[in-house]
Amino acid sequence: MISPIPRIAALPAITPFVGPEALARQNGVLESDVLRLGANESTFGASPQVASAIAAELPRISFYADPDVWLLRQALAAHCGCTMEQIVVGSGIDDLLGLFLRAYVGEGGLALATTGTYPTFFYQAEGYGARVETVAYAVTRPNLAALSELAQKRQPALVYLANPDNPGGGFHGRAALAEFIAALPATTVLLLDEAYAEFAPAPERLPFLPSPQVIHLRTFSKAYGLAGLRIGYAVADARVIADVEKIRQHFGVGRLPIVAALAALRDQEFVEGVLLEVARGRNKYAQIASEVGLRSHPSSTNFVLFDCGSVERAVALVPALFKLGIFIRKPMVAELAHCVRISVGTAMERQRLRELLPQALAACPPLNHAV
Ligand SMILES: *Cc1c(COP(=O)(O)O)cnc(C)c1O
Repeated sequence: MISPIPRIAALPAITPFVGPEALARQNGVLESDVLRLGANESTFGASPQVASAIAAELPRISFYADPDVWLLRQALAAHCGCTMEQIVVGSGIDDLLGLFLRAYVGEGGLALATTGTYPTFFYQAEGYGARVETVAYAVTRPNLAALSELAQKRQPALVYLANPDNPGGGFHGRAALAEFIAALPATTVLLLDEAYAEFAPAPERLPFLPSPQVIHLRTFSKAYGLAGLRIGYAVADARVIADVEKIRQHFGVGRLPIVAALAALRDQEFVEGVLLEVARGRNKYAQIASEVGLRSHPSSTNFVLFDCGSVERAVALVPALFKLGIFIRKPMVAELAHCVRISVGTAMERQRLRELLPQALAACPPLNHAV
């Protein structure tokens, strides 16, 4: 009889994400018929240049990719205003979370985070045996004051902060973040998950490398529309990057994601178009929410939290919309449990949501009082 190490054996068999594929199988529908507004993927697709870049690379897929990821790191350095030595590429932020947890926290080490924020951080922390202590949300954003206070008290190896946050959608501007970073213990690393940075107001974004303690995590999955290819990167002090170079999987990112990311990065015009349309879509969602009698929260991301007025109603709305062909998700954390999270789709998809929401809400428990 074989068994894993006791720590792994003791972990619950959790699935952080039930995919729309599994939901479609359970409901006996075709996944391709489902409108995917539940995982903050881009329904705007990727730059057309990505398809040509992938086609041109296909004859070379029998070869490993460049383990240095030289060309992409060079392009990213120019894009980010830093040097190549300050960049590491991984197969998405999810991969990089594990890498930095391994390097800076490890088994038995301590990390701090916000209860209910991006679940993969906790998933990776459990896998690598890190201990995580948490503070509660401040409405739709991590509570910086509470995180700061706990960091000073507990002196953790690492603090995880998603900014803008998922699922909250809220954002902390650069002054608040700079103050937070300045107050961190000198031995604490800030793992700053900026999966949605492109959607936040540009002047308020934290510039790269204000401090050797900060690790910025960025992805091609959201604004650039490459979620299915799995590629992201970290920007940090060159010494930090050198540390994780010792344990990184050097062939973990394939040729196609690398050439796709290069092409996507070059076509900034396409991304700017996506950002404009997402901003328009967020406003439209606020309008839709009020038309169907719901409130919505302001967002600095590509999704909007619709406040359903009660946990029961939010819980019921997710399967009710799925039955009508729309996949959405809801936050589990208590502070946001009365909300559902809906990714911003194209104008046509927003219209479909507008048409089907009243029907889905009619299948949900009514509110005892007006929202
Ligand atoms: C979507 C998301 C990610 C996933 O990024 P990948 O690069 O696709 O792994 C990471 N962090 C947050 C906060 C996200 O919402």
